[in-house]
Amino acid sequence: MRVARRLTSLPPYLFDALDAKKEEEAKKGVEIIDLGVGDPDIPTPPHIIRACCEALKDARNHRYPSYEGMLEFRQAVASWYKRRKGVSLYAEREVLALIGSKEGIAHAAIAFLDREDIALVPDPAYPVYKNATILADAAYHEMPLLEENNFIPDLWSIPPDIARRAKIMFLNYPNNPTAASVTKDFFKEVVDFAKEYDIIVFHDNPYSELTYDGYSAPSFLSVDGAIDVGIEFNSLSKTYNMTGWRIGFAVGNADIIAGIRKMKTNIDSGTFQAIQIAAIAALNGPQDCVDRNMEIYKRRRDILVECLNNVGIPAKKPRATFYVWAKVPHKFSSIDFAMLLLKKAGIVATPGIGFGKHGEGFVRFSLCVSEDKIRIACERLEKMNFEQ
Ligand SMILES: *Cc1c(COP(=O)(O)O)cnc(C)c1O
Repeated sequence: MRVARRLTSLPPYLFDALDAKKEEEAKKGVEIIDLGVGDPDIPTPPHIIRACCEALKDARNHRYPSYEGMLEFRQAVASWYKRRKGVSLYAEREVLALIGSKEGIAHAAIAFLDREDIALVPDPAYPVYKNATILADAAYHEMPLLEENNFIPDLWSIPPDIARRAKIMFLNYPNNPTAASVTKDFFKEVVDFAKEYDIIVFHDNPYSELTYDGYSAPSFLSVDGAIDVGIEFNSLSKTYNMTGWRIGFAVGNADIIAGIRKMKTNIDSGTFQAIQIAAIAALNGPQDCVDRNMEIYKRRRDILVECLNNVGIPAKKPRATFYVWAKVPHKFSSIDFAMLLLKKAGIVATPGIGFGKHGEGFVRFSLCVSEDKIRIACERLEKMNFEQ
């Protein structure tokens, strides 16, 4: 059976070897502490679950939902953006419901890229930007996220001939995997650059509420002119511990939103209404659940970052996200180092190269396990010797 070329041109899955090793260690009876996945371990708040249970009983919610999402859902998104980000949106044409933001990101690439087009993608990055570009048969140009630039791309160093051919740009702050964050000044620069070269900006912002120490993550759309050039993806997944529910949204430029909507009408049939109603409860309801999450992640972050630095794995405390992006000590490759952590300490961390070649030299730890387990991980790390 021969699959399409676009499938064979997807890069190989780099975590295969690590997954196999993880199973091997688990079989030996080692208690694996998985700091690999970015998937909240904290349950969805009860008031959100209750809203869904009620909605399930209503037969009107059992039918095909609308492609763009219920108007009440889009209004809830618009007022949440106004309250939390100071951004005004027209619910009717500037908000689109998504079956998780991953779906929207992939469909956006297919909706806007032709064969000769270039997508500007950060590297390292969430793999969907690059892979959806490949699935759209388009080309990509990597924007390196380097430590010396605080993991922010140097836009004006992109060769002008590439920038002129570029149709879209993906960005993601607060960032996965580097945990970097930006101020509005960077987004102003992005708008100038996008206008200069006529580029559509897709800003992916699922960690917008996962911030610490008084930092508040801006929306791309909070900058003048941003709505002329782009949209922002956001999601209930990380903010409300709802990764399994599959609900996110896109907000911003009405023409871009219409393009993604058209794509969706031909591929899926919208988000289950009971889940949209749960999402309305999340967006309109009390937000103290988010603050409580962040207190939990903050404690885990502080324990882990302190321990990493003590044992010779340099890491900074991030201002946002539930990731810690740490430097691989000595001459290890990121894969060798991840293997060593697994073999010697039963700890899973994601090798940076899995997010792109500029991720080499780093590993990503996620904070999605209990404080107790993080403490155990730290005890195990303290017994290792990285000097050899
Ligand atoms: C988790 C994540 C997403 C996907 O979120 P869903 O809404 O669950 O699809 C998108 N982008 C980044 C950078 C993520 O880390």
